[in-house]
Amino acid sequence: MPTIVLGTGNPHKVEEVRAIFASEGLGGVSVISLAEACPGRAVPEPEETGSTFEVNATIKALAYARAAGMAALADDSGLEVDALGGRPGVISSHYCTGGREAGMGRAERDAANNARVMRELSGVPAEGRGARFVCVMVLASPAGVLAVSRGVFEGRIGVPGGVPGGVPRGVNGFGYDPLFLVGPEHRVTSAELAAGEKNRLSHRGAAARSMAAQIRALCPAALGVR
Ligand code: IMP
Repeated sequence: MPTIVLGTGNPHKVEEVRAIFASEGLGGVSVISLAEACPGRAVPEPEETGSTFEVNATIKALAYARAAGMAALADDSGLEVDALGGRPGVISSHYCTGGREAGMGRAERDAANNARVMRELSGVPAEGRGARFVCVMVLASPAGVLAVSRGVFEGRIGVPGGVPGGVPRGVNGFGYDPLFLVGPEHRVTSAELAAGEKNRLSHRGAAARSMAAQIRALCPAALGVR
């Protein structure tokens, strides 16, 4: 069976990709975690030195494919805010630290990232707060890139709480979800969507579905059989 290692330490992402691939007719491709591909070996996270999601996802996919000796799928994602010239972009996960690690826990870092975006948007009216989540997925063999996909989730950063539709709101998801208003009328945040609904609409769901279609079209031998 063709096997793909998912270049992430996050078991939720492995489950999510397995579910999407199965529903897209890829039940015959085995998706395994880094821990399963490299038992007893800690695979170091490569440094994300690129200035685009594509470059960073490629760095990760190639590094994990070479570490595991088989095809690897990696993603890079983030939030682009129009009024901030597309920031935080590739530094979304550590925006509050200006791109440097500050040794904070994830929840603390998410809260500080969200506070920075809200501070920088203060005074910007609702119509000027357009934003999108972007996810790029890259599939690579140890020899090079096999496929690239991109998904986009359009929305708007809400205005601070205390007014109708104010944010933060919602307890699902992670990161900037409690600030991110979605839907035609921007009434709910992506943190208020159930997981299945978010997958249907989200950047990550779209990128995974497009990647599944490309994998279906690839010769299975190109994926490498373990
Ligand atoms: P990475 O792709 O794991 O490097 O994550 C990028 C960062 O972008 C995350 O830490 C979040 O801050 C943000 N991000 C990416 N996707 C989402 C999402 O679906 N909801 C909320 N924040 C997200």
